[in-house]
Amino acid sequence: MSKVKILSGKDVANSIYDKLNDRIISLANKDIIPGLCVILVGDDPASQIYVRTKTKKLKSLGLLSEAIFLPSDVSEKKVINIIGDLNIDNQYHGILIQLPLPDHIDSHKIINEIKPEKDVDGFHPENVGWLSIGKPRFTPCTPKGIMKILEYYNIDLDGKNIVIIGRSNIVGRPISILTSLNSKGANGTCTVCHSKTNNLEHFTKSADVVISAIGMPNYLQNHMIKKDAVVIDVGINRIDADNEKGYEIVGDADWTSIIDKVSAITPVPGGVGPMTIAMLVENTIEAAEKFG
Ligand code: NAP
Repeated sequence: MSKVKILSGKDVANSIYDKLNDRIISLANKDIIPGLCVILVGDDPASQIYVRTKTKKLKSLGLLSEAIFLPSDVSEKKVINIIGDLNIDNQYHGILIQLPLPDHIDSHKIINEIKPEKDVDGFHPENVGWLSIGKPRFTPCTPKGIMKILEYYNIDLDGKNIVIIGRSNIVGRPISILTSLNSKGANGTCTVCHSKTNNLEHFTKSADVVISAIGMPNYLQNHMIKKDAVVIDVGINRIDADNEKGYEIVGDADWTSIIDKVSAITPVPGGVGPMTIAMLVENTIEAAEKFG
C-alpha cells in the first residue's frame, strides 16, 4: 500500500494564523481593528453553526466580529437597508451574507448591494470579474483555501488534469478559474462537471486532481478515480451515526473505498472547512489593509 498524504487544512490554517498575527498587530499600530459583520437570515441550524464558528474565530484573534440574525420572513428591502448601513459603517471592513437565503430573497440582488470593497466573500460580480481576469481582489474563501492547501503541501497543478465536480458560484466555478489561471501553482487543465454531465466517471478517471463539491456522502468511489490521484473533498454532509450527537460529518468521498488508491486527500472534518474560515479572516484583514 502506498503512503497516503493527509492534507490537513487544520495545520495549514494554523500556519496562516501565525502569519496573520503580524498583520493584525501592524494594523493595531495604526489604530485599525479589522471588522466583519455577518448577516444570517432564518434559523437553519447548520448556518447558525457556521456563523457562530466564523465570528468566534475572528474574535479570538482580536478582530471585531458581529452577527445580525434576521427572521426567515424578513423582507428583501429590510436586508438591503441593513447592508446599506453597513456599507457606510467604518468599523466594518467586511460584510458577509450567509448563504443560502430564503426563496423570497434574490441572493444575486443582495450580493450586488454589498460595497465591492467590503465583499470579503468575493461574490460581488465586480470581484468575480477581477478574479476571472486573473487580478483577484477578494477571492472566495473556500477556493482560496483549497489553493493554499495545495501550495502548503507542494502540489503543483502545472499541466495537471483537474476535474471539479460541482459548478456553484461559491466553490466549483471559482476554483475552476483559480486552478486554470496562468500563474505559479496553477496552470491546470480544468474540467467542470455537474449534475448534467454524461458519464462523469470518464472525466474523474483521467484526473490527476479531483475536487469534489457536490454535497453527497460517499459519492466519490474507488472505481471513479485513477491510482495516485489527489482528492480535495469539499463536501460537508451530516449522516446519522451511533454516537452522542446522533450524527457525524462526512465529505463527498467514500473514504474507506478510496484511501488506498489516492496519493493525497483532504479529510472531512479538518480539511477544507478550517481553511474557509482562515481565508475569511485573511480577506477581512486584507480589506482593512486596503480600504481601512
Ligand atoms: P451547490 O450550490 O448545491 O452545488 C452543488 C453542485 O454539485 C452543483 O453544481 C450540482 O450540479 C452538482 N451536483 C449535484 N449532484 C451531482 C451529481 N450527482 N453529479 C454531479 N454533480 C452533481 O453546493 P455548494 O454550495 O457548491 O457546496 C457543495 C458542497 O460543499 C456542500 O456539501 C457544502 O456543504 C460544501 N461546502 C463546504 C465548504 C467548506 O468550507 N468545506 C464551503 C462551501 C460548501 P448542478 O449545477 O447541475 O445542479
